[in-house]
Amino acid sequence: MDNVTGLTCVICDKTYPADYAGYVCTEHGNEGILDVGYDYERIANGWTKDDLDANRNRTMWRYKPVMPVVPDAQVPPLTVGGTPMYDATPLAADLGIARVWVKDEGRQPTASLKDRASAMAVVKAREVGAEVVTTASTGNAAAALSGISASVGQKNVIFVPKSAPEAKIAQLLAYGSTVALVNGNYGDAFELCMLAAAEYGWYNRNTGYNPFMTEGKKTAGWEILEDLEWNVPDAIFVSVGDGSIIGGVHKAMKDAVALGWIDRAPRIYGIQAAGSDYMVQAFESGEDILTKAPIAADTVADSISADLPRDRIKAMRAVSQTGGAYMRVSDDEILAALPLMARGSGVFAEPAGATAYAGLIKAVDEGLVNPTDEVVVLSTGSGLKDVASAMKAVTAAGTTPMVVDPNLEALKQALVKGTQ
Ligand SMILES: *Cc1c(COP(=O)(O)O)cnc(C)c1O
Ligand SMILES: [Zn+2]
Repeated sequence: MDNVTGLTCVICDKTYPADYAGYVCTEHGNEGILDVGYDYERIANGWTKDDLDANRNRTMWRYKPVMPVVPDAQVPPLTVGGTPMYDATPLAADLGIARVWVKDEGRQPTASLKDRASAMAVVKAREVGAEVVTTASTGNAAAALSGISASVGQKNVIFVPKSAPEAKIAQLLAYGSTVALVNGNYGDAFELCMLAAAEYGWYNRNTGYNPFMTEGKKTAGWEILEDLEWNVPDAIFVSVGDGSIIGGVHKAMKDAVALGWIDRAPRIYGIQAAGSDYMVQAFESGEDILTKAPIAADTVADSISADLPRDRIKAMRAVSQTGGAYMRVSDDEILAALPLMARGSGVFAEPAGATAYAGLIKAVDEGLVNPTDEVVVLSTGSGLKDVASAMKAVTAAGTTPMVVDPNLEALKQALVKGTQ
């Protein structure tokens, strides 16, 4: 890890050595999240865009020089990263803007962007020889840690709220994790997981605590830049729960600017559900996010339901340092956006993924995005993660299938009715 200069507290800037195993700043406890620092000069001397071009490894590990791992680190065999980004011309036409790209993170091995962080967690856990790795999660980070652990035979213990969508729980059980369904919300699962990790000495993957998770998630941002051949888009739309993904996207932009590979970061927009809008509230009021009290989150987009976004300092900087904004969208707007995005891009997202698109619709309405803008929507998870919400969404959109007897006459009648 010669490329890593140290781990710096986001509150006090105190810097810890690259191999520091304490997760957070000793002065600031769980709020003192660390940010991984890199020796960009050294990296730039040994790594170029041409090197990257010539690298046939299409996974997230192609960005190893800007990741906190040794060059020959053993990585899990599952193909994490390299997700497609589509030029969704029907969506651009719907919105009346120049371009909309949709990056489909539903194509990851466990069907959400969280695989990028969990793959990193498994590498780091094995670096320190951890017997057990653990996380709390609204569902996707858990499924990701579970699946990637399975691929290397890594023991793991998972804490999720009992209310997590069935598909996510099914994944955990199929992958063979030790699963605790917590009678409570994500915050409760998080606290219990933290206690258990400390008690048993398990490797702790928790979001907004383990400093390396952002460094995994940021590879989505690196892929966006590389796919666009280093032409910086005008804006990137990201849904926000704990704020770790948006912080990661921002980190990728900062990395690439520091290396001189791009000259500016795009505007980054953080989209939250109206029922889980901690960051939006703080953005609008200017309240101090170190002292602002938790809210009581409740939204159909379970993956972004967070009373107190754990990675809120990095998340706020992602928006404020790039000239973006935090915006809220209602559950109805999220459910409306789900089939709209599916129909205009072919990407079927879970509610938290469609939230980013709902935010783009609103931003266009409010004039925050111009007709000439080229915009990336990060679709963070697959629609198959939460079929119940997808059915709600299509019903609300007034879409109903025809029910027909198995003969051509019946079909003809049904089609006539359907087109009347
Ligand atoms: C985790 C997750 C998010 C939000 O990421 P944060 O880092 O918690 O802000 C958004 N969408 C999906 C599908 C997720 O799984
Ligand atoms: Zn500190």
